[in-house]
Amino acid sequence: MPAELKYVVIVAAVLVVVGIATYAVVQLFGNRAGPEGAVSAGKILQRVAGEDTCHRAPEYPYAIDEAHWIMQERIDCTIERCAAKRMAHSTLVEAGRIVPASERHVR
Ligand SMILES: [Zn+2]
Repeated sequence: MPAELKYVVIVAAVLVVVGIATYAVVQLFGNRAGPEGAVSAGKILQRVAGEDTCHRAPEYPYAIDEAHWIMQERIDCTIERCAAKRMAHSTLVEAGRIVPASERHVR
């Protein structure tokens, strides 16, 4: 085998190895964000959690005045989705300060 041919074979082999290594690195670490417009799993989990509770309930029960304030402060929230408003609402119902709409006709 002529000496020039050996160099050509060695250079070709090195190029193939570098190409495979580059392809492997791109496959492993590149394109992490996914296709354009894709939403990461973390953002999806965040959104789903937000749909359950837009404001988190406190770890302690609300005082009556605090529950009234929360009901006014969270006026745009729904009891179904807002844990803070739901707790404030149940605090006021238990205290007899408000009567749920479903019980009003019973009186
Ligand atoms: Zn809320």
